[in-house]
Amino acid sequence: QNFEDVGLDPRLIRALIKKGIEKPTPIQRVAVPLILEGKDVVARAKTGSGKTFAYLLPLLQKLFTDSGAKNKLAPRAFILVPTRELTQQIYTEVSSIIELCRVQLKVVQLTSSMPASDLRAALAGPPDILVSTPACIPKCFSAGVLLPASINGSLEILVLDEADLLLSYGYEDDIKAFTAHIPRRCQCLLMSATSSGDVEKLKKLVLHNPFILTL
Ligand code: AMP
Repeated sequence: QNFEDVGLDPRLIRALIKKGIEKPTPIQRVAVPLILEGKDVVARAKTGSGKTFAYLLPLLQKLFTDSGAKNKLAPRAFILVPTRELTQQIYTEVSSIIELCRVQLKVVQLTSSMPASDLRAALAGPPDILVSTPACIPKCFSAGVLLPASINGSLEILVLDEADLLLSYGYEDDIKAFTAHIPRRCQCLLMSATSSGDVEKLKKLVLHNPFILTL
């Protein structure tokens, strides 16, 4: 099976070829079509399995094609990760694919040490994709640079990456601070290396009848 078979946009396939990536990994073969169909997915997959592209590629493809862009007041996709290093890593990967695809999508990374003025500048527009730790969301609320009602009107895809670490690093309250504002139509994806009680807790908090993938 190749990337055409899983339904990937030719622009993404060309971008992957430029990165030397030609065939989907097992997790990508299963997750990409499900995510493109709009399903909520919980995927248990190890680092090194290609789990990042398993959610990034369909996420980007949905943002290429879906029409929610015009009147958005907040980012259309949130990718929440447990550390600043991972924020940087995912931001770099997303930026590079967007550039290779030559599409008009804007991605920003936030860190919780950013002053309110930087958060405001980063969210002006607003961007299509936000990458940060969960702590940044309540911080943006209290700075008044992201409104809960805007999330409700604009959020299309929420990714919780390394979900097993998100709760053990103490982000539960930060995640709870905005779960009430996630619109029902928002697609939620939860990626984790293990399946712990913490992952079950997050699943209940944000997902609706998800497909569970263990690879
Ligand atoms: P991850 O499991 O997401 O941390 O990815 C591990 C590494 O595999 C990253 O360096 C990716 O660039 C690379 N990778 C992701 N998907 C593929 C693929 N389909 N074929 C070859 N390498 C890949």
